[in-house]
Amino acid sequence: MIKKAIAVMTSGGDAPGMNAAARAVVRTALHEGVDVYGIHNGYKGMIGDDIEQLNSRSVSDLIQRGGTFLGTARSKEFKTPEGRKKGFENLQKRGIEGLVIIGGDGSLTGGSLMSKEFGIPIVGLPGTIDNDVWGTDYTIGADTAANTIVEAINKLRDTASAHRRIMIVEVMGHKSGWLAMTTGIAGGAEYVLVPEVKFDLDDMCHELKDAYERGKRYSIIVVAEGACDAIGLGTVVEEKTGIDTRVSVLGHIQRGGSPTVEDRMKASMLGEKAALAIISGVTNVVFGFDAGKVVSINLFEAVNNKKTLDPELVRLARMLA
Ligand code: ATP
Repeated sequence: MIKKAIAVMTSGGDAPGMNAAARAVVRTALHEGVDVYGIHNGYKGMIGDDIEQLNSRSVSDLIQRGGTFLGTARSKEFKTPEGRKKGFENLQKRGIEGLVIIGGDGSLTGGSLMSKEFGIPIVGLPGTIDNDVWGTDYTIGADTAANTIVEAINKLRDTASAHRRIMIVEVMGHKSGWLAMTTGIAGGAEYVLVPEVKFDLDDMCHELKDAYERGKRYSIIVVAEGACDAIGLGTVVEEKTGIDTRVSVLGHIQRGGSPTVEDRMKASMLGEKAALAIISGVTNVVFGFDAGKVVSINLFEAVNNKKTLDPELVRLARMLA
């Protein structure tokens, strides 16, 4: 049972909805009579003692904002036991008794090590646009990023159709194809290339050529950045098909923007759960969603397992292309 203070931080890549989650953590803890500290810039700020006490107004005017008001960073130093000790000592000196970490699997791994090494209670919330945290079918920010991508695909489709072009759209996802697969299906793409599934370039080019000969006006190919080099792919596809091909790399546009209702709602629900759980003495859990309901996942299981791409999505993308 925590009596005095908890801290909240965002870590890893920023994701829309992190603000809504942190806001819910802060307001819930204050409601429970527990002080809340915000750690700026993830583990880097924890080590650098960039920590401030928050009040209810610290999280005003935030729910609609993308990014994270706490800032986020990557920290090599935190990967060392000495770095983690420095970070822990900065929490300890303020009487912080528990930590809510909002981030991807790397950030949650860092939290699991703090828990093992110092026994500090840790509750994690999955915050990443990649939707690649094991044990939850939802991560904060993925829905907003997916909507941003689909909006871009809609626009690219107009211009591709006008010019009878093939449009290759590169989206984020070094190791995870969830964003590409989901937006490929929702954006009506002909092909979706992801790191998890092998593809045959010659077959694809052959099919594209055939389809254009039969009168097709345009094609959309969504490529996860970890599947292949999209620019190089564009050159090869144009060479092999003889069809005008353009590549659009969406880049960091995908991370920003006002969170969708889904991200605001779910992040708020998870934030409240996290604060209540950590205050009541729960530790080493990650809260996520399964079939629309909040679930708690063991932190060590979450970080030691790899989420795989749902084969049903792969099948559906092929079926509807
Ligand atoms: P995203 O999915 O958006 O990339 P992430 O949380 O997985 O988010 P990472 O860069 O992997 O992002 O991790 C964020 C930070 O967490 C790292 O900079 C590092 O400080 C810490 N971290 C990651 N992996 C470990 C690890 N194995 N041990 C200790 N700390 C780690």
